This record gives sequence, structure tokens and C-alpha cells, in this order.
Amino acid sequence: MQNLVVILGTGGTIAGIAPEGQSDLAYQAAQLPIDALVRAVPELADATLELEQVAQLDSKDMTHALWQTLAQRVHHHLVRAEVQGIVVTHGTDTMEETAYLLQRVLAPAKPVVLTGAMRPASSRHADGPANLADAVALAREPGAHGVLVAMAGSVHGAADVRKAHAHKLDAFGSGDVGPLARFEDDGALRRLRAWPAGDALGVAVLDATPESWPVVEIVTSHAGASGALIDALARGGAKGIVIAATGNGTVHRAIEQALEGAAWADLAVMRATRCCDGAVLDVEGAGAAWPSAGALTPAKARVELMLRLMARREGASAPARPL
Ligand code: ASP
Repeated sequence: MQNLVVILGTGGTIAGIAPEGQSDLAYQAAQLPIDALVRAVPELADATLELEQVAQLDSKDMTHALWQTLAQRVHHHLVRAEVQGIVVTHGTDTMEETAYLLQRVLAPAKPVVLTGAMRPASSRHADGPANLADAVALAREPGAHGVLVAMAGSVHGAADVRKAHAHKLDAFGSGDVGPLARFEDDGALRRLRAWPAGDALGVAVLDATPESWPVVEIVTSHAGASGALIDALARGGAKGIVIAATGNGTVHRAIEQALEGAAWADLAVMRATRCCDGAVLDVEGAGAAWPSAGALTPAKARVELMLRLMARREGASAPARPL
């Protein structure tokens, strides 16, 4: 019977504790083990669950090494016939990047649901238990698949999700397209759009030691920009640069000139918008020499460019995905 949900703990605020007398904003993330988080959710008392502590960190400190381990553990459990879905508890700061990486590498045919919290577990009004209950319900949802984020009653797809607010409870959004589904007040799941789909690059794309993953950095285009960062990155051996571009993917002339001057470095360049919402639409001119990252945030475009470079290095061509 395929009814087992595996919950992988990685830390974050959902596992955080605030020392007595401190507010919900001042706390230590990544303190409680995954079994303590599950014990705090009455709805999960009789659920068929398997728990694994993969890491215990504040996700602002996420590393490529942990991404590699996490992708391997998720893949390990996905191929088990008895597993219906997987939940990953994760800090909210880099949740969108991890979700995107897992979707591109695994494109799972079962649901892989990331969840976290904006308030620590010790808060009198902790949001983690309800988010975890929703995430497990989503992991059990018949027909659901792909990497999803369940936060504050909304469900987001890996390609669209972004942390949109620094501290409010409902901190996540999906930009223009809106959430993929919502939990209604009676607990029913209302789906609004299709589950995430696409081709998987395959977990082997992450096989190289994390220290040898291609260096891909983000450079913001802004008033008064110079080409200094581009020059330094090219000389330092970077393989790719994501420009967090203005508006519809426009790039400051000084940065354009520096990129042209660094042609010898054979840098792969991608343009994402630094605007909160809206995709970069390809138009003539205005930096159009470099591919657009569509609606990906600069942080997720960095993941995309890095994976493309890794897939190319492997000799495999990265399956096309609509950007
Ligand atoms: N700094 C925390 C983390 O990302 C924030 C959170 O989880 O909300 O782990």
C-alpha cells in the first residue's frame, strides 16, 4: 500500500526556539529535531510517517553540499514504491532556491512538499504545526506531483514561488500567476492550476564534488553601476553571471561593456528582473544578447544557470524548459 509519507528535516525557523522574553523575530533557527516538530501536530498523531534528520541549519547558510545530499535523499525515497509523497521542513530564506533545484533535478512524479514557518516553534502563535499538517496532506493528495511549497494555507509551484515578504506570516507568493492551490477553511484543497511538470536533469547532474560546481554569481544592475564586479568575477574564474536586471531585463551600459570586454572569459550570462513581479519578455536591444530567465527570481536563475552548466559539462544537454 502506497501511503507512507517521509518527512526530511533540515532546520529553519520551524525548528527554531526563542530564549524566554524575546520576540518572535529574535530566536535561534534550527534547534528542534524533526520528531519534536511532528509531535506538535495533533493531526499527524496516527499518520504513517517516516522521519529523517538530513541537516539542522538556518537556511540562509544553505550550501551546495547540502543541496547535493538533500537531492540524493529525496531521490532515494521517491523510488520506494511504498512512499506516497515527501515533505521537507526547511528555512524560508532559501526555500525557493531549494524547491527550484529539486524540481529541475528530479521533476518528481510524486509530490515533494517544502514547508517551514515564519515564527519559531516556541512562539505562542507558532505557524509551523499548521504548515506541517498542510504539507503532509498535500503529500497524500491523489494525483499531486512535482515540487511544491505549502505555506500559510497556500500552495506554490517550484518555478513560481518566491519569498515576497521579510516577516509577515503569509510571506510567500507566486508573482503574477498566483498560488497553484489553496487549503480552504474546511481543510479541503482547491487546485487552481496544473501541478509542476517538466523533464528531470537527473540526480547524477549533481554528482561532482560541490567544490567543483561551476561558480555562478549574481550582479545587480542599478543606477551608478560599474563593470568592476564583472571584471573581478571573470578574472576569478566564474563560469556564469546572472544579471539582476532593471525592469524588463535591461542592463546598465557599464555592465554591458564589461561583459563584452570579458568575452575572453567565456562567461554564460542570463538576465533576470530585479522587479518583484513579472517575467523578462524578450525584445530587441536592451541586453537582448543574453537569454532571459523569464519569471525566475535572480536567485533561482542562478540555480538554473548553474545546472545548465553542469549538464553541459556532463555532456548531456539540459532538457529545454519554458523560461
Ligand atoms: N533564517 C531562517 C531560515 O531560513 C528563516 C526562516 O526559516 O523563516 O532558516
